[in-house]
Amino acid sequence: MQHIEQIYIDGAFVTPHGEEWFDLFNPATEQVIGRVRLADVLDTRRAIAAAKQALPVMARTTKADRIAWLHRMHEAVRAREQDLLAAVVEEYGAPVSRAQWMTQHASSVLLDAANVLRDYDFTHRAGTAEVTMQPMGVAGLITPWNSNAGFLCGKLAMAIAAGCTAVIKPSEMSAIQTRIVTEALHQAGLPPGVFNIVTGRGDVVGAEIVAHPDVAKISFTGSTAVGKGIVRTGAETLKRVTLELGGKSPFVVLDDADFAQAVPLALNAGFMNSGQACVAGTRILVPASRLAEFEAHVRDAIGQFRSGDPTDPTTVIGPMVSQKQWERVQRYIGMGIREGATLLTGGEGRPDGRKTGWFVRPTVFTNVRNGMAIAREEIFGPVLSIIAYRDEEDAVAIANDTTYGLQGYVAGTDLTRARRVAARIEAGRVLVNTLAHEPAAPFGGFKQSGIGREYGVHGLEAYLEPKATLGVLAA
Ligand code: NAD
Repeated sequence: MQHIEQIYIDGAFVTPHGEEWFDLFNPATEQVIGRVRLADVLDTRRAIAAAKQALPVMARTTKADRIAWLHRMHEAVRAREQDLLAAVVEEYGAPVSRAQWMTQHASSVLLDAANVLRDYDFTHRAGTAEVTMQPMGVAGLITPWNSNAGFLCGKLAMAIAAGCTAVIKPSEMSAIQTRIVTEALHQAGLPPGVFNIVTGRGDVVGAEIVAHPDVAKISFTGSTAVGKGIVRTGAETLKRVTLELGGKSPFVVLDDADFAQAVPLALNAGFMNSGQACVAGTRILVPASRLAEFEAHVRDAIGQFRSGDPTDPTTVIGPMVSQKQWERVQRYIGMGIREGATLLTGGEGRPDGRKTGWFVRPTVFTNVRNGMAIAREEIFGPVLSIIAYRDEEDAVAIANDTTYGLQGYVAGTDLTRARRVAARIEAGRVLVNTLAHEPAAPFGGFKQSGIGREYGVHGLEAYLEPKATLGVLAA
């Protein structure tokens, strides 16, 4: 049982003024495994004040200083990889196979940012002007529970690379991961106030960060509903925002696809992170002429997508993070049945007669129409929809008939054609015959999947403000 009683302000672990306690659960057992004391508005204001005070010094640091810090932060987080892995499995329920990637990602994003910074020129010429990219100021960084450590490190890495200071509001449900990362980052020995970590409720700590006039920029990863609220509140002080929100990503299977490869790829894209992934390929678009064949392949392959004990290396799908999330997924499965979709595999209830743990049966619906709620709304669980299409035009139209636009997938043999289809999908990223991540490339959403980009040069510039100076350059 862990008692987490401190937040991190101005380079020190301190007891919050807030007095509310919040329970942490192991989703595989439904047992309480810890308690975290939550920060309040006063704590948040103190953290913002510390970040504001550290800003003038931070803004004057050199590229070499920041690169050295990012390397030290990387080493420090890497040194805690095993602790973090155990926490991700216990506190979030990620299967070990996935948890390994998540913990490595938390340290590697710091190096990725150092590499972007190394090659970035903060000054360039535009006509007769000199343009300098300047740090925006204090950045408010808000993360969700589905990859808390990775988002925390990734956002902080870019804020620091840009010369900003930060106030971080991690998910209150991920306090064990946050404690490990905070201890590691403290070891890296950055000047006090450069980053501050305040665990608390979204509508208390998060809301204060978003409203506060001394915060210049918000980088938020979470739900579209909360993201819209951030835009509304942030407008009052004209905050710059980067919003990484939800998705309902299409996985377009072209009619020349080799199903031996395309089906496992589609199921892995859909069941990624136990289905609790913003980028999950949850709408699988299959040519009507090959629908029966595709369904047969799914039935054959589904046994490899075991839902169960996250500590078992053969598990692909762990429990849902919370009871609320489990109930939400159950509700959508019931809704799919009532809407008239056909259950190809899975269904309501827990797998294998399990009585406890927020486990879900890997569920694939077929004969889904794109207008059904299960095809339109983000479920955030291992529930996929197969939607038949007539021809390429129809596939592109269905793929784009969504309010979201985070990611798309295309599987096919003819690469010229696959690329042509990829070019027509309205999404920030399209993956052709792959599920690989590219940290140098921008990541973010079209439409209601977000505003702005993370990663790479675009991710760095999201924390920078261009300033033009005229009259100082020789003609
Ligand atoms: P959420 O929106 O409920 O919470 C995200 C964070 O915002 C949490 O830290 C929460 O405490 C905080 N928050 C809540 N209310 C707030 C408010 N009024 N003001 C400021 N902060 C507030 O999302 P979640 O349930 O934690 O995560 C799941 C969602 O995140 C899904 O919709 C998923 O698609 C999305 N997500 C998006 C990406 C992406 O990169 N696009 C990645 C992961 C998750």
